[in-house]
Amino acid sequence: MEIYYESAYIKEFDAIVISCKERKDGKYDVILDRTAFFPEQGGQSSDIGTIVDENGAEHNVTHVSIKNESLADSCENLEETLNESIAVIRHVVDTPLTEGENVHGVIDWAHRFSNMQQHTGEHIFSGIVASEYSYDNVGFHLSDTEVTMDYNGLLTSENIRDIELKVNRAIWENVPVICEFPDEQTLRSLNYRSKKELSGDVRIVTVKGYDVCACCAPHVEHTGEIGILKVTGLQNYKGGVRVNILCGKRALEYITSQQQIVDELSRQFTTSFDNIISSVKKLSSENADLKGELSATKEKLIEYELKEIPSDKENVILVKDESTDGNSMRKIVNLLSQSHDGFCGVFAGTDEKGYKFVFSSGQKKKDLNEVIKVLRENFGAKGGGNAQMIQGSLSAIEISDVLEKIEEL
Ligand SMILES: [Zn+2]
Repeated sequence: MEIYYESAYIKEFDAIVISCKERKDGKYDVILDRTAFFPEQGGQSSDIGTIVDENGAEHNVTHVSIKNESLADSCENLEETLNESIAVIRHVVDTPLTEGENVHGVIDWAHRFSNMQQHTGEHIFSGIVASEYSYDNVGFHLSDTEVTMDYNGLLTSENIRDIELKVNRAIWENVPVICEFPDEQTLRSLNYRSKKELSGDVRIVTVKGYDVCACCAPHVEHTGEIGILKVTGLQNYKGGVRVNILCGKRALEYITSQQQIVDELSRQFTTSFDNIISSVKKLSSENADLKGELSATKEKLIEYELKEIPSDKENVILVKDESTDGNSMRKIVNLLSQSHDGFCGVFAGTDEKGYKFVFSSGQKKKDLNEVIKVLRENFGAKGGGNAQMIQGSLSAIEISDVLEKIEEL
């Protein structure tokens, strides 16, 4: 029996252990005769908490699931014949309980209340999206780390800011949230949101003036309890959009973490909050200019260095430090191959960390397939190329051994 339907505010309850079975992961699946633990369903992660046994020992509830099945299958020790399909709620508990004993369940209320805040916030948001844009909420995910909704239509950042403000107005108005199972006739007359066709008892959650939606989850009683709703992300997703939101304490924590980043940036740039963006842009442009200057200087340096090498030297293979980038390496081998006959190559790196390499065949167009073969077979090199150009990498190695081997070719 699901006590969470009686009230979302039942934090503790008494129950009897109907069954307790060891799981493959060493934990235990516990079925109670009644529970206030909301199981994972409809995109929302489950409640967590503890079950206190008759001796006062606490057993951690780490997950709760619900599955339609024959109760007789899971509880052989029940006298009654229960062959019809019934929703079975299993509590994953880290230590075993005794079948038949009286226990006391305690829900992690901070965790549950946060889920209630996020979920009611989502309903108001989706209700406004439905009434103003006629988009459906086609996906919902509420976990300990994120809350996302998927809508089957596009929303711009301006739309999102407008909806966010309207949701927060609904929060400030502190309107009632009513969860009920209407009779069939009332249900037929209601215009409510639902992800699928429903039959039998349908639970309807109404946020007065904002939304009517079929939903099985616990909700806050008044919208003011949500505290605040903040949209934290918007992206195009499957032809529509995915929106990230945070409500209540989670929203406050998010805003605090963003503020800490801004404060730290203010300190780093020794500037005020509203000058941070221009300071970052200035720094980034200065950095790009410096990189350009550095690269031009490096190229000049390379040209001087290469001029020192006698042009009658056939194979020229240089070893540079790990700061030499791919562009510089290609530049070196191109220049070398214009004035030398043999293999022209460069290794960049260290013996400890390994090397990147680029080779170009010189004026005599010596076949570099020979070199890559030696590098692969003798030194486990990764990479490839063709007769005129090869490139790749070597893991930690004595580079002098490599140079010796190539000289033998
Ligand atoms: Zn819902």
